[in-house]
Amino acid sequence: MVAVRRAIVPLLLAGALLLTGCEDEAPAAPAPAPVTTRTVTPAPTTVTSAPPPPPSPSSVTAPPPVAAGKVVVLDPGHNGGNGSHPAEINRQVPAGRGQTKPCNTTGTATNAGYPEHAFTWDVSQRVGQALAAKGIRVVYTRQNDTGVGPCVDQRAAIGNTANADAVVSIHADGSTAAGANGFHVAYSSPPLNAAQGAPSTRLAQTLRDTMRTGGFSTSNYIGGNGLSARADLGGLNLSTRPTVLVECGNMRNAAEAARMTSAEGRQQFASAITAAIEAYLAS
Ligand code: ZN
Repeated sequence: MVAVRRAIVPLLLAGALLLTGCEDEAPAAPAPAPVTTRTVTPAPTTVTSAPPPPPSPSSVTAPPPVAAGKVVVLDPGHNGGNGSHPAEINRQVPAGRGQTKPCNTTGTATNAGYPEHAFTWDVSQRVGQALAAKGIRVVYTRQNDTGVGPCVDQRAAIGNTANADAVVSIHADGSTAAGANGFHVAYSSPPLNAAQGAPSTRLAQTLRDTMRTGGFSTSNYIGGNGLSARADLGGLNLSTRPTVLVECGNMRNAAEAARMTSAEGRQQFASAITAAIEAYLAS
């Protein structure tokens, strides 16, 4: 458990601090004064007085966003301190389907040394800020890029405990196969619970679609059509919430590494992921 000593307690606090208010409600229109009626016998005479109608509002405040009040857990893969804490990171933890796996890994890097943990951290912050601005409560599975862990089972538990409406794990791959490039979105299969079924596959398809719209190519070496059904990923297996894991691209591919290394490129990844989450929550 030492691997997660820094991570858990601040999470919900941080998520709460990121909560932003909905847009102001439209001011209530003044209620019309009640119609007054007076009856006189023997011949009924009705006298009615009514106030002028309330003035029409000069502008109408938009209703709150559809996704306001939703909870999204963002899981930036790995962590900056993992590499210097091998004992903590290599210990075996439950990974679902009767498997165990190392607590976490160091992740990959570009050939020039830009690490995956830094990429996933930066992209997750960009996504989280955009979602929070829409009134969505964002919970991160780690609070900085210098800590250790948390382990994969703890990451899943964070999404479950937060009762997340959507969980997105953000990663980048490190294949050395010649020409390997493109993104893919992994989801748990066969599903172990209802959330891993249709909700998670819909989230995966939505993210695949917005990544394509954002100009990213689907993987030419893993999965099919940008999707990958997986039974071996602990964070997916242990989740009871709609959950996917996106491998944004191959950090060992020169073109994709260049995109990931630039702030503009990372914003493009973040925009596509944000669009997917918003679309998923709104549907
Ligand atoms: Zn990774």
